[in-house]
Amino acid sequence: MKPEAFASISPATDFPQSAWDLIRCPICHSTGKLKQSSWRCSDCGRSYPKYSEIVDFRVVSGREDLSFAHLQATRDEKERVSRALNLAATVSFAELVDNYFREFPTRPEIERGEKQTLLQADENAQEILFQMGQTVPIAELADRPQSIALEAGCGAAGVTGILAKRFSAVIALDADLDRMVLAEKHCAQLGVRNVVLLCAFGESMPLASDAVDFIACVEVLEHATSQPELISELRRILRPGGQLYLTTPNRFSAGLEPHVNLWALGWLPRRLMDAYVRFRLGIPYVGKRNLSYWELRRMMKMCFGADFCFRRPRRSRYTAQARVANSLLHIPALAYLVRLMVAGYHVVASKPARLGEGHSPQRSGAL
Ligand SMILES: [Zn+2]
Repeated sequence: MKPEAFASISPATDFPQSAWDLIRCPICHSTGKLKQSSWRCSDCGRSYPKYSEIVDFRVVSGREDLSFAHLQATRDEKERVSRALNLAATVSFAELVDNYFREFPTRPEIERGEKQTLLQADENAQEILFQMGQTVPIAELADRPQSIALEAGCGAAGVTGILAKRFSAVIALDADLDRMVLAEKHCAQLGVRNVVLLCAFGESMPLASDAVDFIACVEVLEHATSQPELISELRRILRPGGQLYLTTPNRFSAGLEPHVNLWALGWLPRRLMDAYVRFRLGIPYVGKRNLSYWELRRMMKMCFGADFCFRRPRRSRYTAQARVANSLLHIPALAYLVRLMVAGYHVVASKPARLGEGHSPQRSGAL
């Protein structure tokens, strides 16, 4: 089915043109034009399809993958997305989430957890904002004229909904086209209109360099195909003086692995993790690579030099495990070990500001 045949969920959006001016061809990095059913690069002429309000900028490499398996998967995805978009026009966000799990059945307890994350996107985003607000000067970044934020790996666009009320425009980006349909429905339900929806890989973002004031990348890095490339892209598109807020689970967490709810999974050698999860749950463990403190620190340092720091913001509520960890942090002899085994890490990074522009987080890689 051709992209133009897809139903549009919302009427024409009135997001600022400035956000669309930042879009670049992920292959040749040139500007282009947004048309009715695609975005077309002015230089290489490549056309990127538009499904409802979502433009699909996913490219694996400069060469097309013409294998039968790839073509079949692409066709299946288009048909699935077409069904979801047609459904989205008539059902609620919650019903659309149910449909998503009908398309992607998994174990009941995993589905329950993921569904809860999607359905509680707004409540979760409030908690993220509470923690983010302690580490990043959101208001200051948002108050600039034509301020732009990016939610990299937006899922159902919960954080996007919150940022859209503060920034002039928000770019919501995710590699999962099926989830982008949920993101569009969620934005429509919230009534936010200053959002640009892009389906793209984080390793090759269709965005200009030095483009955005703030990036939220929450629990996404662990899913990237190339983690150093994702971090490098985040730095490239950040404007000088802009800030990145990134969270990711800790491989050596003393608690459950958050994607499959198994204890101590991260302590196994990586090559055994998939086999172990298949043995315990009967599902594959792919597309997840939680980092240790030292791995994350090394990657951040490679891209941001000294312009990043680990933070440990307060939460609005604590689990029993977090309360124990917090009390142990007061015992100096244990504090270092506990910090290596916390559930996850919060990192704030910045691109050095040009003279008199913005400010940087404390220049230190320390926990
Ligand atoms: Zn191009």
